[in-house]
Amino acid sequence: MADKTSSSPLLKERYVLAKCCSPSETDQITGYFSYDNLIKVHRHDCANLIKAEPDRLVQLVWKEILATHKFRPGTDYTDLDATDFAILKHHRDYDIDYSLKVAQVLGLEKQETFDRHRKLRELGLLERVETLIVQYRKKIAKNKWIKHRNHTYYKLTERGIAYLNFYLAENIPNIESDTNRE
Ligand SMILES: [Zn+2]
Repeated sequence: MADKTSSSPLLKERYVLAKCCSPSETDQITGYFSYDNLIKVHRHDCANLIKAEPDRLVQLVWKEILATHKFRPGTDYTDLDATDFAILKHHRDYDIDYSLKVAQVLGLEKQETFDRHRKLRELGLLERVETLIVQYRKKIAKNKWIKHRNHTYYKLTERGIAYLNFYLAENIPNIESDTNRE
């Protein structure tokens, strides 16, 4: 469980705090541009940076990398599991989509996906898309949607995007794996 009393700085997308040195806002920092296209933020004097490729180091200042507002999700955040976030991420990557398609892409049971879509909508993280918009998208996507116009389509809400970004920022694996490479 995340420590709710911690006040680690919340960063813009693609920036993550390095766990090896956990810089705080009073530290001087250096970024490491990792192979997964994230910029890992280390303390300026972190020992791991000595081993890093110099070309991948970037000068950073806090005010340029802090999220513009410090979003904190509500208590309903704890009702969500990794599969829920996989669904939200699917909608971030593919925008408007419907349950059967999401089930297929993510390898989930159909009924489970229906249930999760409903739950995510009730939490305000997804919203239904009006038929009109779907038809418009169908046109620009060269009839891609034509077989599916009777499905209920969903897309991310602003709140859903904020929850997803918060989740992704907290759950990035192998923060140190790049810089620990010999
Ligand atoms: Zn470090």
